[in-house]
Amino acid sequence: MIEMKMHFFLRPTPVEAVPRLAAALGIPPDGLFFKRDDLMGLAGGGNKVRKLEIMMADAVRRGARVLVTTGAQQSNHARLTAAAGARLGMHVILVLAGERPEKLTGNLLLDQILGAEFVFAGTSDTETIAAELATERDAFRIPFGGTNALSAEAYRQAGVELLEQVPDLGSVTVAVGSGGTMAGLVAAIGAERVRGVDSGALKDARAAVARLIDEMGFASGALRIDEEQVGAGYEYLTEAAREAIDLTARMEGIILDPTYTGRAMAGLISAARHHRLPEGTAVFLHTGGLPGLFGNEQIQS
Ligand SMILES: *Cc1c(COP(=O)(O)O)cnc(C)c1O
Repeated sequence: MIEMKMHFFLRPTPVEAVPRLAAALGIPPDGLFFKRDDLMGLAGGGNKVRKLEIMMADAVRRGARVLVTTGAQQSNHARLTAAAGARLGMHVILVLAGERPEKLTGNLLLDQILGAEFVFAGTSDTETIAAELATERDAFRIPFGGTNALSAEAYRQAGVELLEQVPDLGSVTVAVGSGGTMAGLVAAIGAERVRGVDSGALKDARAAVARLIDEMGFASGALRIDEEQVGAGYEYLTEAAREAIDLTARMEGIILDPTYTGRAMAGLISAARHHRLPEGTAVFLHTGGLPGLFGNEQIQS
């Protein structure tokens, strides 16, 4: 029998200099790097791949045949759960907020290509529906954003990986959604050098990240989270994110997404302009999300 392929990407993910973007932000050309967690071998890549490796190993151990998870319509996590399920031969049910749109775009199109089953929650609570389906269909439940204290370990390991690649790390900037990515990084690197940028996915990102770090058995310390980039709310594109996407594309030929990495870069730009970046090499964690760009009507107009 062919062994199940439980490694979803090649590690370490690359770290590369972005000298033209650095210059545009008033940072020395060798002072700013991207860690490319958007470059991974599973359906478009992104930070959920690391977390899913751990979650899927757990699902396999428990003999799961069906998976269920929740998300927004353009959820990168839902798309990557569909991909991970496909790779392991499991059926994937995605419980997504709102009504089924006429046309499947962005992540939704990829979900369908990957063979996932859609359940559109309408105005009902996606988590309630997922809990019911988990019982009815004997499905293994993957939490919102693929985040819990178990899977956040993936980003503790990524933090260790980053410190090996960038020993003089001054700061790493990361978007915060469900909080698992930031929590894991803080566990490895400490609160001082991890700069979270809140996307507005949760009501209280700070509390969620602190709780995860605590559940992992680490001390959270004083978390650095920029709450200024949420704007009108998670689902709304901000002017600062649009500018950050354009600047990064035009300086480096690298594409960010409107929900997470666009906001995170807007936070980094603001910190650089206000001279609030700590000494040492600045790293931007590119957490993926490109398909979301093709499912976002606001950026298309
Ligand atoms: C989910 C996501 C994040 C946030 O990660 P969390 O671990 O949920 O905080 C950041 N960037 C992208 C592109 C994402 O899809």
